[in-house]
Amino acid sequence: MSVPPSASPVLRPRRTRFIELLRTTPARTVCPNFYLLAHANGCAFRPHCDYCYLKGSLWHVPVDSAFDNVTRMLADVRRWIARDDLETYVLNAGNLSDSLSFERIRPAVQALVEEFRAAAAAGRRHTLLLVTKGGVRECRPLLGVAPCPNVIASFSVNCAEVAEAHERGAAPVADRMEAARRLEAAGWRVRIRVDPMFAGREYGPVVAEIRDLAPERVTLGTLRAESHLLRVVNHGLFGALERPAEPDGLARYPLGARLDLYRAAIAGLGGACPIGLCEETRDVWEAAGLNPDVPACNCAE
Ligand code: SF4
Repeated sequence: MSVPPSASPVLRPRRTRFIELLRTTPARTVCPNFYLLAHANGCAFRPHCDYCYLKGSLWHVPVDSAFDNVTRMLADVRRWIARDDLETYVLNAGNLSDSLSFERIRPAVQALVEEFRAAAAAGRRHTLLLVTKGGVRECRPLLGVAPCPNVIASFSVNCAEVAEAHERGAAPVADRMEAARRLEAAGWRVRIRVDPMFAGREYGPVVAEIRDLAPERVTLGTLRAESHLLRVVNHGLFGALERPAEPDGLARYPLGARLDLYRAAIAGLGGACPIGLCEETRDVWEAAGLNPDVPACNCAE
């Protein structure tokens, strides 16, 4: 992710294991741990989103890469599905990349879905989480097959103003929402993330659309950055954030600004579905009127 935004992604085999347990940080947040599927490093959308945290966490990766030894990846996935001793049963394919942005150059999602369809048929609870800012085109691999109960499609959306300014390489928000509607209508499990919310922007219209969609879960997050991302992205995007007190903490808006965003979105969703907060602590969940003891997190089962 340290390459110029115009550089094309490459295909290469992954030499190390595809699946590992990710313990979420900062540790005090409500966020659950999950297994991550390292099917790619980076993102094929151009340009990258201005705030993308991969600019900080993948600073050592010279170019966005999709791993093309898919057969070995699927074997690793089958071994993971065969395990009964897991700390969590969610395999997140959207932590080191957008889950669907590489499909055009390295198709893998339909094969992954079939592994999880077999898992569902065998009564396994193991679940694949796809996280994307893709639209209808990126979702074609899912729209072309029957829904699978052990696969979740989670769309990250924003208000149109923020998306047009800071997510220019991703699908337009209207396209993401259309893809979400089509998948939900076809019987797929759909979740929505409104993340990162920017202070002072109007989220009412997109929240109203989400309320009408009534996905199985909504996760809210506000603009934030860990220390390395703050050093890499130094053009003022994060200027309104307070620096963290702890070394592994996140720069964030002041609490009052975050709660204003959360409370307005929660009210706008009108109880349409369970709601969670991304990378926030128990006290913030409680202040927003949410219960951290039954967290409706995007990355949990
Ligand atoms: S879509 Fe996601 S992974 Fe891709 S550049 Fe934007 S934030 Fe990063």
